[in-house]
Amino acid sequence: MRCHLCLQWSWQPLCKTCLRTILEPTPAKRVLHSGLKVYSFYQYTEIANFLHTKHTYLGAKIFAQLAKNSMLPFLQQVNFPKGAYGIPIDDHVRHGYAHSAVLAHALRSIIKPLYKSLRAQNDQTYSGQKLAFRQSHKRNFISTCQTGMNVVLIDDIVTTGTTLEEAQKVLEKNNVHVLFALVLADAKEN
Ligand SMILES: [Zn+2]
Repeated sequence: MRCHLCLQWSWQPLCKTCLRTILEPTPAKRVLHSGLKVYSFYQYTEIANFLHTKHTYLGAKIFAQLAKNSMLPFLQQVNFPKGAYGIPIDDHVRHGYAHSAVLAHALRSIIKPLYKSLRAQNDQTYSGQKLAFRQSHKRNFISTCQTGMNVVLIDDIVTTGTTLEEAQKVLEKNNVHVLFALVLADAKEN
């Protein structure tokens, strides 16, 4: 196939050169009101085109490549309790691939993914919705995690942080220790 970005021949949708150059991650940290640390690796505009491919076969490959190019090296560098689990946020999907599950799977050599361990009972789309809508339409997560676990939350983007904070709250109520969150991009609305 050809690289999605530079159109050179490549075994993967993104070639090694592009991953090393234009897709070199720029790690950033945002602390939510709840105190949750959210680490992001790309500008939203840099990966916005990829986000639209996310429920396709190609999208799943691209997401795995981006996670291995950004989140994985980050996890190899930071100190956190051994035996932590990776929790994809709301990895329920009706068609195609769950983006957050693809990301969590790509990190499995360091944090063991716990699929479908946190499910939203309300699966309304938040895409393009304002903060007020998000806050009044909570996801009503249910957790099936065991108490005492250390977990890392995983999602593709963070906008207001409402979803991550809600997930954190539900998990902590169940005595699960949320270490931090990893997202590909921070799409904070100004
Ligand atoms: Zn390329």
